[in-house]
Amino acid sequence: MKIALIKGDGIGVDVAEAAIAVLETALKHTGEPAPRYDEIQAGAGYFKETGLDIEDGGEERAGLADAIFLGAIGLPSIRHANGTEISPHLRLRDRFGLYAGVRPVKAYPNAPQRLADPRAAGIDLVILRESTEGLFYSAAAHKRSLVVNDDEVQDVLRITRKTTTKLHRFAFNLARKRRERGHPGKLTCVDKANVFTSLAFFRQIFDEVKSEFADVPVGYNYVDAQALDLVRKPWEFDVLVMENMFGDILSDLAGGLVGGMGMAACGEIGDTTGLFQPAHGSAPDIMGEDKANPLAAILSAALMLDYLAEKLDKPSLADAADLINGAVDTGFQENVLRPMEFGGDMGTRAVTNQLLTLVGSSI
Ligand code: ATP
Ligand code: MG
Repeated sequence: MKIALIKGDGIGVDVAEAAIAVLETALKHTGEPAPRYDEIQAGAGYFKETGLDIEDGGEERAGLADAIFLGAIGLPSIRHANGTEISPHLRLRDRFGLYAGVRPVKAYPNAPQRLADPRAAGIDLVILRESTEGLFYSAAAHKRSLVVNDDEVQDVLRITRKTTTKLHRFAFNLARKRRERGHPGKLTCVDKANVFTSLAFFRQIFDEVKSEFADVPVGYNYVDAQALDLVRKPWEFDVLVMENMFGDILSDLAGGLVGGMGMAACGEIGDTTGLFQPAHGSAPDIMGEDKANPLAAILSAALMLDYLAEKLDKPSLADAADLINGAVDTGFQENVLRPMEFGGDMGTRAVTNQLLTLVGSSI
């Protein structure tokens, strides 16, 4: 098993190293050898030194590994001459067609909880965000809006049968897998099919794919109602699938219900590879201070192991993912994981060491 490793900038380096240490311990305990790594230099720091945002040949090498793991990239103080931030990872998304953006959202005891209702302790859902087309298509593909004239600007909401079919199949499979693990396994199609032809098409393809997954319960929600429901009764949802910009907005909303940036894991998955990273950035305001919460990166490593279990047909990798997820659960439950991010006393290293202990002692 080979992992392309891009540690990147700021706290990205620390949290990536923490995640790899936890991943290796979990693999060891499931009898799996440590992965091989291809470490690729990239990011704002690398750009400052070399004038390149990723090392020569780095993108190709990333595609040769079984998966890509990334810490965080970009520093506001170091930019391209035209003022844009250093972001080679967005090219990786394009290059490898990473259409399925996976954002788990889960409430942990003793982590910030914005809703007073006790049922909020049961929030445990996944937002699946299409990541290569939708309403971000203009920005991603054209790098600009479609300017019509001096008085009007248009962007495009693009839904293709090919990508949407893959997205919905991914969503149904995910719901099914979650049911096997004791979740409700219900899939909700979030759209605005009553207003947009493109999103009626999105729902039509959902219904076509649904016929292949008769065992998966489904629901439908318009995106505005979904925003309301995510605040009113988020515990009623399991897997939510939606186009790009809706997913961008609702995944932040849902993430905000249950914790800080340091808990938000993220996977971006395509036909041939997947890129896994914490949803947060390089956090220059706390870099080098041992304050960053490494759990988002660690939970992203667990997502990567789940992905690799299926890709490489190695169920023991999913066991390793379960070990990590279970250790995070136990750690919060027993109040031995107290990240500084939530006002606790544990910095990056202390949280990581506690996780290593929990993973090591959980079998
Ligand atoms: P990007 O543009 O790359 O998304 P950003 O400007 O949105 O970056 P982040 O780097 O994600 O910003 O940081 C936003 C805020 O959240 C900062 O105050 C940062 O310190 C905090 N933060 C981000 N990640 C963590 C973490 N893992 N642990 C603790 N605090 C974090
Ligand atoms: Mg951000």
